[in-house]
Amino acid sequence: MAKIAIVGGGPGGSSFVLWALRAGVQPEDLVIFDKARFPRPKLCGGALTTRGTEALDELLGRPPGGGETRRLEFRSVLGSFPVQERGSQWLYDRALLDDQLLSACVAAGVEVRQGCAVREVEAAPEGWRLRFGRDEVERFEWVVGADGARGIVGRSAGLRGGVVGRLVEAVFEATDDSLDPATLYFDFDPIVDGIPGYAWLFAYPKPGTAFAAEAGPPLRATDGLWKLGIMDGRGVTGGGALRDWTSRFADRHGFRLVDEKIQGWPEHYWSPRAEAHRPGLLLTGEAWGIDPLLGEGIAPAIELSRYAAGRLKGALDAGRATIPGYEAGLLRTEEGANLRFQWRLAERLYGPNGRRWMRVLFDHRYMRELAASGTERYGRLQRLQWRLIWRYVLQVLRGGLPSNAPLLSSPAE
Ligand SMILES: Cc1cc2nc3c(=O)[nH]c(=O)nc-3n(C[C@H](O)[C@H](O)[C@H](O)COP(=O)(O)OP(=O)(O)OC[C@H]3O[C@@H](n4cnc5c(N)ncnc54)[C@H](O)[C@@H]3O)c2cc1C
Repeated sequence: MAKIAIVGGGPGGSSFVLWALRAGVQPEDLVIFDKARFPRPKLCGGALTTRGTEALDELLGRPPGGGETRRLEFRSVLGSFPVQERGSQWLYDRALLDDQLLSACVAAGVEVRQGCAVREVEAAPEGWRLRFGRDEVERFEWVVGADGARGIVGRSAGLRGGVVGRLVEAVFEATDDSLDPATLYFDFDPIVDGIPGYAWLFAYPKPGTAFAAEAGPPLRATDGLWKLGIMDGRGVTGGGALRDWTSRFADRHGFRLVDEKIQGWPEHYWSPRAEAHRPGLLLTGEAWGIDPLLGEGIAPAIELSRYAAGRLKGALDAGRATIPGYEAGLLRTEEGANLRFQWRLAERLYGPNGRRWMRVLFDHRYMRELAASGTERYGRLQRLQWRLIWRYVLQVLRGGLPSNAPLLSSPAE
């Protein structure tokens, strides 16, 4: 009988399984439950910044069928600047990527039960009982919650979570070639309009279309499809207002809606206050929490699962049902330290003085130098935080602290 139930077969659950196998857990001790049947759709921009490409490459190699961009661009009414990472970014249709990750688990001999929704998780002697299907019940020594933004595992176990944001997104087509499909665009103008988040314009590598060729020739914006959306990193703006903002944003950039409608989905952000462990139970992936600043989730899901699988293997070897310091231990990893750094930035940029911090972001000369350098990776600047602070303090001493005064929206907003 399998000892460990993994609830959720997205990148969090499948990478947990692949890391656990690498750590020496036997495939027959693992079983994945997912309510969906794969390939299943997932509302997502599908972009992995370089931190994610490196993690995915280490786990599985580069899955075929994706696209690629070469840089990011941060924009707003205050101007724009390029963010050149030390590697490229990969783009995927999530149905395709997640199916390849889950298939790797099946190929490794792990049982996957698709179309199987877990309805409840209850504490049982020496483990947990899962309720699923038509009142079927099964007991496991360990349950791993990899069930995403509003997961049942964390809720059933009464674990305190982080902030839940609200996002909307849809597929669009470009009507002119002013944007470069080899760039991921992040636009912070929502903050100007009181929405604590940003909007994105990403090329969409729908299978069989031009942007899905990994290293093809340079393309024009009108050669393929795009995904446009907006993230409210605090979940305080209604879905209707986010859809209206996205429609105006699309018009301003010359995009036409291809999907029938603009859809919404929540995101759950990592927080130092979030709980992710009870005896015999732990959370990973978005169920624990993802990057609170840009909402990047695939890379954090893979990295959290690397950590979670290692800690669970340690507990199994020691014959223990508890993992001492599970949440705090993450902060000693590169991912954990950087999630905390991103969380601090999000608290500021999406907080009451957001416009001041937006001015800091667009006027921080040393940060812009780093962004242009091509030596760094998005989401990996924590080790430079003191230098970033110190250099900005010098800049402020010379030029003064930026204000939190209102900013003027872009003409068409
Ligand atoms: C609009 C939008 C755009 C995004 N864009 C990006 C982006 O460009 N790049 C990026 O890195 N991240 C992006 N994200 C975030 C990213 O999609 C997620 O963080 C990522 O999918 C997290 O992976 P996960 O495996 O933890 O969770 P999920 O991918 O959500 O997987 C959870 C799985 O659990 C299953 N499940 C849930 N409940 C149950 C249950 N009760 N029983 C059985 N199965 C269950 C679900 O079917 C699902 O397959 C975006 C998110 C949104 C909403």
